[in-house]
Amino acid sequence: MVSGIMWGRMTKLPLAYYGDPILRKKGARVETINDGIRQLANDMIDTMKESNGLGLAAPQVHHSLAMFVICVPTQQPDESWLPGKVRVFINPKIVSYSDDLWGYVEGCLSIPTIYEDVLRPFKVTVTATDLEGNEFTEEFEGLEAHAVMHENDHINGVLFIDRLSAKKRKELEPRLRQIKKKFGPK
Ligand code: ZN
Repeated sequence: MVSGIMWGRMTKLPLAYYGDPILRKKGARVETINDGIRQLANDMIDTMKESNGLGLAAPQVHHSLAMFVICVPTQQPDESWLPGKVRVFINPKIVSYSDDLWGYVEGCLSIPTIYEDVLRPFKVTVTATDLEGNEFTEEFEGLEAHAVMHENDHINGVLFIDRLSAKKRKELEPRLRQIKKKFGPK
């Protein structure tokens, strides 16, 4: 997920853009958390920060693996924002969703310039493994839950534009074709 328009810059890892087949593949399970995976996670964190992203999934940096990172600021009761905490999710599984839905305008580092309101469950519970190899189960809500679901979709080959109404998606088609032409694989 992304906040602000910061796309098109050079990042630590090159981004895969809309139209790249890797974004439609299901990421493979990470079998061993070795130095390569730790390095990839750190490079993904750098790339996410350089791009002003709230999250980044491995397929977005050309690695078809089931892992993603998020860093979502939290809003205080006085409405000021606290910097987010970086979280790494390896082989994540969303184990429960709340019934109540919440809409938020999402963007994606792989689909520059498109921002649309996406309705998703307000809360989710996720089981995943961290970089130390420890399994954790945690509940997320609001913006952080949106980021978790957005990134988890990426490792299943799903993009946020797939979550829009058929009408909205159709309206976006010409712009999506342009993005594919401009940023996609040649
Ligand atoms: Zn995305």
